[in-house]
Amino acid sequence: MSVIKHWIDGKQVESRETFVTYNPATGEEIAAVASGGEAEINAAVAAAKAAFPKWANTPAKERARLMRRLSQLIADNVPELARLETQDTGLPITQTSKQLIPRASHNFDFFAEVCQQVNGRTYPVDDQMLNYTLFQPVGVCALISPWNVPFMTATWKVAPCLALGNTAVLKMSELSPLTADQLGRLAMEAGIPAGVLNVVQGYGATAGDALVRHPDVRVVSFTGGTATGKRIVERAGLKKLSMELGGKSPVLIFDDADLDRALDASLFTIFSLNGERCTAGSRIFIQETVYDSFVEKFAERAKRLRVGDPTDEKTQVGAMITQQHWEKVTGYIKLGEQEGARLVAGGADKPEGLPAHLSKGNFVRPTVFADVDNRMRIAQEEIFGPVVCLLPFKGEEDGLALANDVKYGLSSYLWTQDVGKVHRIARGIEAGMLFVNSQNVRDLRQPFGGTKDSGIGREGGEYSLEVFAEVKNVCISM
Ligand code: NAD
Repeated sequence: MSVIKHWIDGKQVESRETFVTYNPATGEEIAAVASGGEAEINAAVAAAKAAFPKWANTPAKERARLMRRLSQLIADNVPELARLETQDTGLPITQTSKQLIPRASHNFDFFAEVCQQVNGRTYPVDDQMLNYTLFQPVGVCALISPWNVPFMTATWKVAPCLALGNTAVLKMSELSPLTADQLGRLAMEAGIPAGVLNVVQGYGATAGDALVRHPDVRVVSFTGGTATGKRIVERAGLKKLSMELGGKSPVLIFDDADLDRALDASLFTIFSLNGERCTAGSRIFIQETVYDSFVEKFAERAKRLRVGDPTDEKTQVGAMITQQHWEKVTGYIKLGEQEGARLVAGGADKPEGLPAHLSKGNFVRPTVFADVDNRMRIAQEEIFGPVVCLLPFKGEEDGLALANDVKYGLSSYLWTQDVGKVHRIARGIEAGMLFVNSQNVRDLRQPFGGTKDSGIGREGGEYSLEVFAEVKNVCISM
């Protein structure tokens, strides 16, 4: 079996211990992976610290050139990167090859532009003083990424971090190591100097914890679960923190909406990426006047989604990342039935008719619960799979109150033709993002992130400066 190693100071480095990464669709072993711990983290942080002064002082134009080169190399390797990502995560190949890997390439292109447009601000004080600000690189950044859409999320951190003159240690999830390894390789091929990007593979409790605690790390940019995020906040000490955490995002559909579009978009928002999506619209509130017909159509459409081999271009929902995660998701389906929600599509049993080579795969049928009470656990807890709750509401006031009655606040979605309602709900919704008459469409300039238990801080466009730059004020007496 091949061994995935770390990338430290431009070289591939082994560890004494390894673990195995599995194919979620077949249960087969894919590769052994070096299991990093304190020693590997110390080496990676030392390399990043040594590389920092030169990289921070490299002209933005040159950093941008290298970012573009890396972007191009990713673009040139889309088929292979998509194949690896699908093999490692169970995500459908059409989604990895057409959306996720191309987006990763775009991340580098985009931040190549951003880093050349960083401007300070000026604050003249009468004719006596002039204040101006400098945005400067911070230093060594810990970038910790989850297993869902791993390559896209990792590059969403690496691109602004490096483009703005910082150096990085990337700790990818132990469940999705393959494409992070390729990122290390392609960064070297692009000519990014040794030590600027280091990739350490390993478990959260060992490699992740050592990285977060390291005194030479100045920034922790974390994407993952809320419980892990809370632990990291306790362990990191005085570092700059960006926390992109879990979600249970509401979709509010009013009876004046274009209901066909709302139906299409709501199906996409919960069932794309296997439902393993932080911004999944997993609680759909439908105005009671159109509730019954919407439920019926939604269930019909969910039943028609094709679950199966992630490498098949016709597949719309692939396999859950691990057997353990499959148990969690199907456990919530059983819980929903016990809580008294009405199961109108899917269920905890595996889909029928899968070919023999997929018999050990972690497949879950797209599952729809109707008549859910917002106090049920299935309506309050992040399931992170293809399971959705449909709930009726009466009018604007109770719809908004129900949507906000959850501990998370990442994304939200609204369907209505009433412009006044749009503005009122935009003000009232407790979420970092609201998409109106739209599914989740990302513009890389927009601030991405959440409120409440969904996190701290925003990344994207100039908002990434809040994380990956230090602002310095210079005051000159005239
Ligand atoms: P997770 O919290 O288990 O792991 C995320 C990363 O943290 C992994 O690399 C893991 O190894 C590492 N880690 C675990 N324990 C650690 C510790 N003590 N110290 C340092 N690092 C540690 O999350 P997951 O299961 O990989 O991902 C799913 C979660 O991520 C979901 O809750 C999802 O909503 C969230 N997510 C959020 C966003 C967002 O932008 N808000 C995006 C994607 C995923």
